[in-house]
Amino acid sequence: MLAAVKTKSGYDNLELLEVDEPKVYGDKVKIEVAFTGICGSDIHTFKGEYNSKNLPVTLGHEFSGVVVEIGEDVKNIKVGDRVTSETTFETCNECIYCKSKDYNLCSSRKGIGTQVNGSMTKFVLSREESCHVIPNNVTLEAASLSEPLACCTHAVMEKTSIKEGDIVLVIGPGPIGLLTSQVAKANGAKVILSGITKDKQRLDLAKEIGIDIVVDTLQEDLAETIFRETKGYGVDKAFDCSGSIVAINSALPLVKKKGDFVQIGLFAEKYNLIDQESIIQRELRYIGCRSQKPSSWKLALDLLKREKIATDKMITKIFNIEDTRKAFETVMAGNEIKVLIKS
Ligand SMILES: [Zn+2]
Ligand SMILES: [Zn+2]
Repeated sequence: MLAAVKTKSGYDNLELLEVDEPKVYGDKVKIEVAFTGICGSDIHTFKGEYNSKNLPVTLGHEFSGVVVEIGEDVKNIKVGDRVTSETTFETCNECIYCKSKDYNLCSSRKGIGTQVNGSMTKFVLSREESCHVIPNNVTLEAASLSEPLACCTHAVMEKTSIKEGDIVLVIGPGPIGLLTSQVAKANGAKVILSGITKDKQRLDLAKEIGIDIVVDTLQEDLAETIFRETKGYGVDKAFDCSGSIVAINSALPLVKKKGDFVQIGLFAEKYNLIDQESIIQRELRYIGCRSQKPSSWKLALDLLKREKIATDKMITKIFNIEDTRKAFETVMAGNEIKVLIKS
């Protein structure tokens, strides 16, 4: 079968190779892949900015498909089930994080599409515990967004919570920012989404899918908008989905005193100059947020089932597996929202 393989570290080294089909065993499920989303982290891997120790590896961790074979220990997943899967392939099962199913924090965790072969190919293996049957009214295309959506339900509904009527700031209109905005809205928030002029297409899409207030911070005054909307208090919650220090520092003083600031975006550098003065003086809770865990997936699939996420508008291009390189180049050009690969 044809697979998109990162063959060695460094820039590019992404090759379409003929590889063997995986074999099921134990609690493993063999899935015929339908769609795989290209993630920002795949682009970092393409550029050689993430150093996987397990190369060569087939990329792809945001996927949907149909079960074609199950291992002898699989109990609940059946051949023919339409599924999506958590990226967790293996954990230690012993640490305190595994015991509470915080698999995103297990130090021995191995992930699909990073440490073990992923879904940018015809068949992928996952463990039964990581598989979720897709609700009947959710398409395979939409279900391939479950992984990024689960990262956002983790941020919005698990690392903090939203009360009806909360006013929320989301920084960065990329796929994660757009999904975070929709999760916050589904929980009753009024959402202000900020971006910059080069994000125009994404900001326009945000308006189209009903985000309440969309601000281009290079053209409009974000502080003025926020203080006008919040009677001068600031937003109840803010979510950074940009990893931009400039954006974060301009947002910290715009969060209400005692408010939450959730950091989802990754930084290019390990150490950064953050406005800690605002964190202290405003008594903010600055909350780290990493990936997703089983409970986040339940929340994500429930939102998809209840049609709270405009997945059709977010998926702007689909490429065949043979055109994987073109798909990566299209994502890097930055004009699409979510790009899928069809297996
Ligand atoms: Zn991802
Ligand atoms: Zn563990």
